[in-house]
Parts: sequence; C-alpha cells; structure tokens
Amino acid sequence: MDLQKEISRRKTFAIISHPDAGKTTLTEKFLLFGGAIQTAGAVKSNKIRKSATSDFMEIEKQRGISVATSVMGFEYGSRRINILDTPGHKDFAEDTYRTLTAVDSVILVIDCVKGVEEQTERLMEVCRMRRTPVIIFINKLDREGREPFELLDELENKLSISVRPLTWPIGQGQSFKGVYNLYGKSLNLFESGSSRVTQSFVSLQDLNDPELDRWIPESFSKKLRDDVLLIEGVYEPFDRELYREGLLAPVFFGSAINNFGIRELLETFTEIAPSPDAREAAERTVHAAEEAMTGFVFKIHANLDPNHRDRTAFFKICSGRFERNRFYTHTRLQKKVRFSSPTHFMANEKSIIDDAWPGDVIGLYDNGSLKIGDTLTEGEDLHFRGIPSFSPEIFKALENRDPMKQKQLDKGIRQLTEEGLAQLFIQFGNRKIIGTVGELQFDVIKFRLEHEYNAQCDFTPLRYHKAFWVTGADKEMLEEFRRRKAGAIALDREERPVFLAESEWMLKVAREDYPSLEFHTTSECT
Ligand code: GDP
Repeated sequence: MDLQKEISRRKTFAIISHPDAGKTTLTEKFLLFGGAIQTAGAVKSNKIRKSATSDFMEIEKQRGISVATSVMGFEYGSRRINILDTPGHKDFAEDTYRTLTAVDSVILVIDCVKGVEEQTERLMEVCRMRRTPVIIFINKLDREGREPFELLDELENKLSISVRPLTWPIGQGQSFKGVYNLYGKSLNLFESGSSRVTQSFVSLQDLNDPELDRWIPESFSKKLRDDVLLIEGVYEPFDRELYREGLLAPVFFGSAINNFGIRELLETFTEIAPSPDAREAAERTVHAAEEAMTGFVFKIHANLDPNHRDRTAFFKICSGRFERNRFYTHTRLQKKVRFSSPTHFMANEKSIIDDAWPGDVIGLYDNGSLKIGDTLTEGEDLHFRGIPSFSPEIFKALENRDPMKQKQLDKGIRQLTEEGLAQLFIQFGNRKIIGTVGELQFDVIKFRLEHEYNAQCDFTPLRYHKAFWVTGADKEMLEEFRRRKAGAIALDREERPVFLAESEWMLKVAREDYPSLEFHTTSECT
C-alpha cells in the first residue's frame, strides 16, 4: 500500500536546455517554490566557461559543484519532486544523455530570443529515442524575442514534436504585459518597476468581456483575442495521453529570472507529468509497483579527495523499496552487496537515508565494484537496458609515458572510463583508444591520471570520424568483416565489435560491401 502511494506522489525529471537559456535559474525558482532553499543564488551553475577549457581548477570546481547539485529532491504539496541536474557544457553531453535515461519526463527551456539551438536539438533526439514526455518553457519574455507563433513552428519543425500552448504571452520585451492561461482562463499580469517585479492574477472566463480592456491596453487585448482564436483553430486541444507518449509537448511562456509564469508551469507539471512506471530489462518489463527492489546505476562520481579513491554511484530505484543495510544482488558480478550509508541529495545537502522508493535517486558509496549500467535486485537475474553509449567524435590513442607505471595507468583508465568520462576501445588486444565528444575530457583524463593514479600519459590523435557498433545475424559475414577490416575494428568495454570509420564514405562502402551487417551509432542495439 505504502509502495503504491509513494510511487504515485513521485515525479522524477530533468530540466534541459542549450547553455544560457535559463536552466539554472528555473531550477532555483522551483527549489524556492518547494521551500528547499530560502535564497536565490543557492544553486550554482555547473557551467564551464569556454575560456576555461584548460583550467584544471575550473574542472575540479565543476566536479565539486555537480556532485552537490546532481540530484535535488524536495517536497511540493503532497508530491515528492526529484530534479536531476545535467551538465550544460557540450563536452559533457554524454553525461546528460545518461542522466536522461533515469528520468520520467523533462522540462525543456528555450530562450525566446534564440529559439531552438544546437544543443536543444541533440537533447530532444535523446528524449525521442526513449519517448520521454516533454514540457517546453519559453523563457526570457522580458526581452525582445521572436514572434510566439514563429517559435512554435520552429519547435515543431526542428524538434519533430507536436506542440500545444497552455499559456500565451501578451506583448514582449519592454511591452511585456503578462501571460494568459488558456486552460485556467486567467490573466497573470506582469509589471516591472525599477527595483521589483509584481504580478497579479485576474480570472477571466470570457476573453470578449470588456473587463479585459481594463487591465491591458486595447491594442494588446485585441491581439490577444485574435491570437487565441487562431490557437484554438490551429492546435488540437491538449491531450494528456499524447503528452505521456512523448508525441505532444505543452508549451508555457514566462521569465524565470522574474519568477514569472513559473507557478503555472510547476502546477501543471506536478499534475500531468508521469510518476515512475515500467522499465525494460533485457529479460522482461519491470513495473514500479513490484514488491521486489530493482534499480540501476546511471552515473558514477569519483570523490574529490585523491587520497580516498572512493566513488559515489548514482542509483535509480525502479521498483520496490530500497532499504539500508539489506543485501542485494549485483547481477553483473553475481554477488551480494549491501550499503550501510546510502544518501539522499536534498538541494545542497547529502543525508543518510533508511529507505527509498521508485523514482528516487540515491548515492551509493562504492569502492570500485559498480559500473554504469549495473543492476541490483533481490536475487532475480535482471539487467536493465537503456544506458546507451553514443559514438564519440574525437579519437586518440593512449600512450604510456612512464613504463614503470603501466599498472597504475591501466587501472586509472579503466576506472575513469567506467565513470563514463570517455569511452575505451581496445584494438589488437592491447592498444587503447579513447573516444570522447569533446576535447575537454582529454585534459580531465590526463590531469586525473596524474593526480589520482600517479600515471603519466600522452594522446596521439587518430583520424577516425565515428564509431559504429556492428551487428549481424550472418555470423560468417561478421567474421569476414572483422578479419578484413582488422585495422579499423576495436572492441568496446563489453567486448562488442566497433567499426572505426574514417569518413561517412568509408561507412557507405562498408554498408555496400556487407549488406547483411548493421552499423549503429549507439550501443543500445544488441
Ligand atoms: P543555463 O545555462 O541554462 O543554466 O542558464 P542560466 O540560468 O545560468 O541563465 C543564463 C543567463 O540568463 C543568466 O545571466 C540569467 O540571469 C539570465 N536569465 C535567466 N532567465 C532570464 C529571464 O527570464 N530574463 C532575462 N532577461 N534573463 C534571464
């Protein structure tokens, strides 16, 4: 009974955006609403400034900040809200993608001046792969931005998702008057004074009511009436099922920094966003309401103190109740494990907990036995799916600079890649190739190998363009391909064959020569 109650009151989600659209600001406003923090400025941006690419202190700071704000849980009314933070920097995009496998829905923040940006498109691709329900918040209405209808068209076209506005802006920038709530049928008026912003709510059942003209100038009320007519004509009514299937995104307008339009967003979010549900394991579908505890690790974070090589594994509970000090089965290693100090993350604090429920993310102290993707159960042999690796874009061979420290280097690189910092491919039995999505990771790896493992390395750039995971039912053809292309074949961590193509053209040729083989850009294919 408790289990069902705890599941239905939980909402686990991530706020995603292109850097600078307002993710940190919105997160902070949510926490303020939830009472989890008292003052603005308590949430630190986890951004790495571009100019700081090789500033190691900045990298260290980033690691500290992202531990502190990785998961923020708070109570809102009768609900338990878990916000999973995602790194803003593009070079850490993989970390974001993995985090998205642990949420039940997302809120996507768009800057009304810039519209859909590069990182927005990539993030949405990941959401589409998993059919994650999306709510869109169009931010910075206090700035002269783009036409709202134009923005909606761009969202539909670039993100391949249907949209449905639930609030509508009245004016923009200097002349921003507020938003009209299309479903609640009320006006939320915005007034910015020299030092503060005020807002008032006016209920208005009928937009033709002359009352409207009392609140906003006539030119604005006329436009609002016209806009609403157009919206009703063009967009289907909001359909919650389509939203839940990831096909339709409700859209809100506001200004995060001015705390404007946030309440509507939060209230609608808590009402419509899905609670933890079912999740696919390789063996079967696991339902959140099953009594037996199951869950998986989606992120590993090494601690900052180089003298203590302990790590925190971020564990998402999928079903049942997690209990402190109870033995669970680590299904990859087939061994029993137990945790005496699992932690919850509450805004900036960590605290030890006795139990946790589906949808929760807890920190498990780990001395090296947990990897990203690992499943824990009460004994059943289950392996959760859906922790994909994406093809890296930069490849470099790892060279050891100190032959006396080969062991340290091997151990360090194994652990750092298990953390998900980069991908490791092995060629010809022992050549190590590191693949990443950004240059920054190479700096981080080098720095951490030196400081945490006492190992020295160099990287030699390789000309590969992308990695493709190769599968095929025709075993003979697969074997022939591996033999013939040995110079461009490597094995990933799970010993799956990967084709390292030097160009799109090379891939095209391989596809033509080996028609029965399949080439995948993510590892979630087998
Ligand atoms: P993130 O990179 O997505 O986390 O973005 P931040 O929350 O750090 O915001 C980026 C910048 O935009 C900061 O300088 C914010 O103060 C500013 N910002 C956020 N929301 C608004 C808004 O509603 N209006 C305006 N004018 N600026 C905003």
